[in-house]
Amino acid sequence: MSVLIVGSTALDSIKTPKAENPRLLGGSASHAAVAASFFSPVKLVGVVGDDFPKKYLELYRRHGIDLEGLQIKAGKTFHWSGEYEVNMNNRRTLLTELGVFETFTPVLPAAHQRTPFVLLANIAPALQHHVLDQSRGAKFVVADTMDLWLNIAFNDLVKLLKRIDGFVLNDSEAHQLTKEDNVFAALKKIHKLGPKYVIIKKGSHGSILSGPRGFFLCPAYPLHKVVDPTGAGDSFVGGMMGYLATARGSIDDNLRRAMIHGSVTASFCCEGFGLNRTTKLKRADIDRRVKELEKLTRF
Ligand code: AMP
Repeated sequence: MSVLIVGSTALDSIKTPKAENPRLLGGSASHAAVAASFFSPVKLVGVVGDDFPKKYLELYRRHGIDLEGLQIKAGKTFHWSGEYEVNMNNRRTLLTELGVFETFTPVLPAAHQRTPFVLLANIAPALQHHVLDQSRGAKFVVADTMDLWLNIAFNDLVKLLKRIDGFVLNDSEAHQLTKEDNVFAALKKIHKLGPKYVIIKKGSHGSILSGPRGFFLCPAYPLHKVVDPTGAGDSFVGGMMGYLATARGSIDDNLRRAMIHGSVTASFCCEGFGLNRTTKLKRADIDRRVKELEKLTRF
């Protein structure tokens, strides 16, 4: 089965204490789509401008990503720029140039409307609603978000939570949404807003799933060097959805293993700028790290 991924497709200019890289391929949907492509067929829905480098379209194609739903509009591609502090955890947005993203309306081609696995990667909740309005009989819908939408589109986001199966957010967003400092108390409150599955990401400390079978503590792969964590969260959820789309059995049977595969895919993302490392991966590289992680956490 395939995964439909809707989100931002961007050019990212990223600054770390060690280096600076302008106009890399980025955006929530780009990271998630490449990550998912190691496991299942992917359909990407997004928008880019006519300045979008052809080599990036080629890169999507090399990963077998279906681009029928990618709109190419006259104007500039969404450009985001961020800077990391020395610890590589704190990030500051330097610039957001919306370009063609400002008037983006996601349109699902007829062939995309019945995709069983739907990932609403980080975009405005109103657009995430619009995707669900066009989707028919999805088997599993997961949404991601960011602090911006909690600040400026809170009501839309809360309404969205009633329409999805799984919600993925990071620990500071969970605190912002629920006002709870304790992550388990926050999980309980988020379930009450709708989603059956809630995953709280904790960066290099892994993530926590809460669902019908209880909690699962998913580790992050131990990295000795982080080059650029941009898109790690998107790679995590993209890898997880890709794995789920091809795994046999129920969501409950597969979700933990899917999170581990997402976590490992995200670890590779952190080892290069933008998508530089992820796009050089083979499925066997991911499977090797999954085995290592299994050994590290068995007791
Ligand atoms: P993450 O590191 O997982 O938070 O995701 C970083 C990605 O989010 C970058 O590739 C950006 O292009 C993208 N991004 C930044 N701001 C926005 C926004 N307002 N809406 C959608 N995507 C964004």
